[in-house]
Amino acid sequence: MADRIQLLPDHVANQIAAGEVVQRPASVVKELMENAIDAGAGSVKLIVKDGGKTLIQVVDDGSGMSPTDARLSFERHATSKIRNAEDLFALHTKGFRGEALASIAAIAHVEMHTRPGTEELGTHLRIEGSKVMAQEVAATPVGTSISVKNLFFNIPARRNFLKSNKVELRHITDEFHRVALAHPDVAFHFYNNGSELFNLPSATLRKRIVHVFGSKTNEKLVPVEEATQVVNVSGFVCKPEFAKKSRGEQFFFVNNRFIKSPYLHHALVAAFEGLIRSDTLPGYFLYLEVEPSTIDINIHPTKTEIKFDDERSLYAILRSTVKHSLGQFNVAPVLDFEHDRNLDTPYAFQNKEVTQPGITVDSGFNPFREDPRPARRENARPAEKGGAWEALYSGLESPRGGDKGFSSLQLESDTITGTIFDPDTLARPAATTFQLRRKYIVTTIKSGMLVIDQNRAHQRVLYEKFLKSITVKNAVSQQLLFPMVLSYTSSEMEIIRGIKDALSAAGFVFGKMAKDQIEITGVPFMVSNSEVEGVMDQLIADCQRHGEHENLSMSDLLCKTLSRTLAVKSGEVLDPGSQLALVDDLFACKEAGLSPFNKPVYVTLTESEIDKKFN
Ligand code: ADP
Ligand code: MG
Repeated sequence: MADRIQLLPDHVANQIAAGEVVQRPASVVKELMENAIDAGAGSVKLIVKDGGKTLIQVVDDGSGMSPTDARLSFERHATSKIRNAEDLFALHTKGFRGEALASIAAIAHVEMHTRPGTEELGTHLRIEGSKVMAQEVAATPVGTSISVKNLFFNIPARRNFLKSNKVELRHITDEFHRVALAHPDVAFHFYNNGSELFNLPSATLRKRIVHVFGSKTNEKLVPVEEATQVVNVSGFVCKPEFAKKSRGEQFFFVNNRFIKSPYLHHALVAAFEGLIRSDTLPGYFLYLEVEPSTIDINIHPTKTEIKFDDERSLYAILRSTVKHSLGQFNVAPVLDFEHDRNLDTPYAFQNKEVTQPGITVDSGFNPFREDPRPARRENARPAEKGGAWEALYSGLESPRGGDKGFSSLQLESDTITGTIFDPDTLARPAATTFQLRRKYIVTTIKSGMLVIDQNRAHQRVLYEKFLKSITVKNAVSQQLLFPMVLSYTSSEMEIIRGIKDALSAAGFVFGKMAKDQIEITGVPFMVSNSEVEGVMDQLIADCQRHGEHENLSMSDLLCKTLSRTLAVKSGEVLDPGSQLALVDDLFACKEAGLSPFNKPVYVTLTESEIDKKFN
């Protein structure tokens, strides 16, 4: 039989390797910026166009390269950073695999200008799809500038797979954050389509974080510092009250390299346990220094996953260090086994002024009136539910949720959470529904009975209402008496800009918009003041999560988020009028049977099914 095995030509091998190293423009940004850092740059400029699809350029003032090195740097496995396998266990550089430039040059049009400080003249090199098109002597500043154009020009399938410019820019920004946070002493500039996104001077770590995430960040940071035999930990965590639903402020660096580690993330979540709501994430910027020989960075081509020799100790150290820092800065109760949890004040209330308890008399109360609902409800603004009282209980898990049986059958003496529906509908006789375990509304129908999930039902009702007001474009908004100014990071602002039109259609009214702040002057009719921030937070988180699927309509996402955030929750007591109104509103919906998230809203139990049970 004839021999069939051949060695792959270099450019094919490079293209294959490129698939692992370069997934999207952001991967190129990461590799080029890391090379600049490895070259000892004091200042790094990043310039991108069209989400990096048209141009990615990184300019540094680092060591530069000789003409031979410039040419060699594009060969596969060409690196100046390690010489033998042992060096892998004493790494002090970002790169070491020597395949980034070769991979990038295999799938793009690359130009390099480079000059070491010792030379008068530098080198200009042009490579397209691994082919060197030109190499010449050139006058150029000390350092290296590499521009990458038309990424994936020769792999159309990959190019088509790229997301919109906006999404790609977001990935690039994430990478930029990671490198910038790992090297506060290096100055960074970042330009997108000609406008400056970041200008970060060389600074302390705290200042760098503030420059990246906005001036509001300063007050959030709690320093963390601990030196042990296994690891030195330093950096900051965010105070619990600033925990957000959206990700974006979670950073681990190991020996100045950004890494992803669900395991260590869990250590942080454990440290914040009891201090933040379970649907929010702690913010952290943590820097671990370990002996290079105790980690293996080699397990992933993009080098964001690493293996630790002693992961368990790291976990324990991180958790206790962070707990300790939170305690020291008086933001967490210090470990105290005698401590009575009942005496804890929820954070939201620590700085609030104490108000005198008052007695409110229901002046409209008439014991002889047929309809015994309290008169005050008529004036209650729909949006006032879930305001202060809810916050009062946040953090104290209600033991009442666990009670058994029909105890939540609505009695007049129960606290009325508030009215969430038109007062008009309350005028109906209130006998055909009751609330089961503060979770379900039970009502009768001709053929038997109906058990409705109150949360999902209300989601459906709100979802359709919002969808209607957005598509018909006559959303009702209420002017805020005092406009609210909310602060966001620049990537959050980017998201807000993207959804602003949809938000306006839903009834939000925006005032001035600054680089890291937005003024809100009006909100949709069903949103109360106290809910605005939470709604925005949730929206940003959802956009981050679903922004990838761009065929998903923005207004649909918006309505889903609003309905989920604003709907009555399980555990909320509904007065009989509200129960009835909810049932009415639900069955006026186009698709009453499904929640906006495709979950069943109600179940029926027919008479014959009930009969069967008695057999
Ligand atoms: P690695 O970083 O893993 O060594 P790369 O393909 O990223 O591999 O780069 C190959 C080599 O090119 C590096 O080892 C370095 O010597 C050189 N190099 C790349 N970028 C720069 C730069 N910006 N300044 C100086 N030298 C560079
Ligand atoms: Mg490199």
